[in-house]
Amino acid sequence: MGKVIAIANQKGGVGKTTTAFNLGMGLANKGEKVLLIDADPQGSLTISLGFKEPDKIENTLLEIIEKAANEDEIPSEFGVMHYQDNLDLIPSNISLATAEISLASVFCREGILRGYIDRIRDHYSYILIDCMPSLGILTINALVCADSVLIPVQAAYLPVKGLQQLIKTIFLVKKQLNRNLQIEGILLTMVDARTRYTGQIVRHVREAYGQSIKIFSDVIPLSVRAAETSAVARSIFEHDHRGKVSKAYMALTEEVLHGGK
Ligand code: ATP
Ligand code: MG
Repeated sequence: MGKVIAIANQKGGVGKTTTAFNLGMGLANKGEKVLLIDADPQGSLTISLGFKEPDKIENTLLEIIEKAANEDEIPSEFGVMHYQDNLDLIPSNISLATAEISLASVFCREGILRGYIDRIRDHYSYILIDCMPSLGILTINALVCADSVLIPVQAAYLPVKGLQQLIKTIFLVKKQLNRNLQIEGILLTMVDARTRYTGQIVRHVREAYGQSIKIFSDVIPLSVRAAETSAVARSIFEHDHRGKVSKAYMALTEEVLHGGK
């Protein structure tokens, strides 16, 4: 049965989408069957995979959510786009923004996606959900579906400050809605090895959270090569195969596959 990992942080721009894309590709390159779910109305993951006009895509996560909310049958291929041999995508576009409002009045709204994900789990070895930068109903749905949550955190003061709120929410979801939810780990991103300040932040995160939460031993370095990947719609493995970000995402892939070193 596939493992469902939500990639979440309510702080914007910390590397969620970049991580979903490159971890997904890393796992697919290892022969795993992967489904990426874009759960952000910005459609960044959809665009990163080369679907440059997400607003023209007809069947997206929104249509799946609407069908699930109406208890309509959802054919297994509905809304699924094939990216490459063992990598599929459920895309999103700006229309997903309406889900936050339309779900507000739905009974058991936090669990709308769970039944659907449970039905398709068997078709994949990993399902990665790229969450939007908020702790609204869509992100809560992702946490309710997930086996674990992977938390990218940019190695900077404000993103690290926001971690507490996120971890509180995760424990609340675990207590009330999804007892099996685990924290896959905290992933430090955009780490600039040249600055002492970044080193201090990384140490602070390890000291403050390292006792109770896994912190991935590999950090993702800051590099313009990583920032370029969405524009060229290629994973870091294709775009800069020998580069440090490629090596870091490869190491992350191994840690996720084997549960650490
Ligand atoms: P949002 O909250 O808006 O969904 P996000 O958390 O998904 O953002 P990304 O979109 O992955 O974050 O990354 C934010 C920006 O930083 C993007 O422009 C991306 O290309 C860039 N970026 C991601 N990782 C790195 C890195 N390791 N080094 C340099 N830039 C990076
Ligand atoms: Mg994103």
